[in-house]
Amino acid sequence: MAPFVVTIDGPAASGKSTVARLLAMRIQGQYLDTGAMYRTIAWAAIKAGVDLQDTQSLIALIDRTRFDFVPGPDRMEVYVDGQQVTDQIRDPELTNLVRFVADCRPVRDRLVQMQRQFAQGVARLVTEGRDQGTVAFPEAPAKFYLVADPRERARRRQHQLRQTGIECPLEEIEKAIRERDKIDQERQKGGLRPAPNAVIVDTTGLSAEQVVDLMASLLHQAFGITIASANRADDEGLAG
Ligand code: C5P
Repeated sequence: MAPFVVTIDGPAASGKSTVARLLAMRIQGQYLDTGAMYRTIAWAAIKAGVDLQDTQSLIALIDRTRFDFVPGPDRMEVYVDGQQVTDQIRDPELTNLVRFVADCRPVRDRLVQMQRQFAQGVARLVTEGRDQGTVAFPEAPAKFYLVADPRERARRRQHQLRQTGIECPLEEIEKAIRERDKIDQERQKGGLRPAPNAVIVDTTGLSAEQVVDLMASLLHQAFGITIASANRADDEGLAG
């Protein structure tokens, strides 16, 4: 049976990753962080000394490397030829370079292919990124597009970076976020834009749980999906 796919797109630090993970739990499905996939390819290319603007070499690298994307309880764990690089792919310097990989259409095609394959292995998928509702899963029944005030997004990103031991001034983060928004929006294929039938959710001032509650109740109303309680870890077996 075809998987039930929920897409969540939106700009950097709009809350997509956390919301996708929590929503997946609530609908008893799996989540996919596609930004982590682009980051991982960029990390592997840099490690191998591959020029990020050399399409052929990037594709050859993808073909000879084993990538594993494993959704964990807190975030997506990523492995390159068996080496776990989950922290490394969040490095701000790498973040600034991911755009070159994301600009490469053949790489995008490969990753979209991997994302669709991933979906085939699960019953319900919540997948987040920039092009999930527009390119990867245009037929998805449920599409969301998250937005949030850039200053608030910068604060969230600062908090996230702190958790991995990286300290960075707020202004710098906000500037980088605005620049990345622009680059992501201007990308011809797979660029950042809402699908025509996406529900736009402004997450400014909302907690992750509030956003997830809103989305879960929409999914319940529109598709009759059973929603597990927010504390699923304590409530195992609820909502079968
Ligand atoms: O979501 P995250 O910030 O981790 O994404 C990193 C970068 O990967 C984005 O700025 C964007 O350039 C690229 N990306 C993309 N398409 C996606 C997900 C991410 O182009 N579906």
